Amino acid sequence: MFLERSVGSGKKQGFIEVITGSMFSGKTEELIRRLRRARLAGQKVEIYKPVIDERYSREEVVSHDARSIRSTPVETAANILLMAWGVDVVGIDEAQFFDHGIVEVCNQLADQGVRVIVAGLDMDYLGKPFGPMPDLLAIAEYVTKVHAICMRCGNLAQYSYRKTDEGGQVLLGEKDRYEPLCRACYLEALEEDRKKKKT
Ligand code: ZN
Repeated sequence: MFLERSVGSGKKQGFIEVITGSMFSGKTEELIRRLRRARLAGQKVEIYKPVIDERYSREEVVSHDARSIRSTPVETAANILLMAWGVDVVGIDEAQFFDHGIVEVCNQLADQGVRVIVAGLDMDYLGKPFGPMPDLLAIAEYVTKVHAICMRCGNLAQYSYRKTDEGGQVLLGEKDRYEPLCRACYLEALEEDRKKKKT
């Protein structure tokens, strides 16, 4: 479990935390938990997400268990710098969908003394690193990798397997389109798909 660093004496220091993993791994729930605690402590908290994520309401970060916190949809990463003036803790959800500018934005905010908490998918449905996430993982002080449970065998899952044969890296969906799988079951599923295509 991640423990928030103690605050108090000394100068205000910024830093970057990344929460990453597959779909259905509880990334957003963990982001919300940390943000709630900061807000309870009287810190000014703001949350941003890319406009592309329209699964639910446009105004809120909504996790799968519906424990939501209001958030601001933004078109580009650079907009966050303009909007986050005077904020103590900046939360960023669905970071994999942001442009690469998000990396510099997170660095600049942390340099200015802001605590930045980023949540995003580490890999796309093909198991490839997703958008700016590898760079965000590299620059972060703290990384938390969370896991889902494999739908087939019950082991820890790290892949977001796409059940449909739709292409394209960005395809929004929930359990209708994706299931979390462990490495072994993911390889099996890909092999089954290959066989299906041949017949
Ligand atoms: Zn499995």
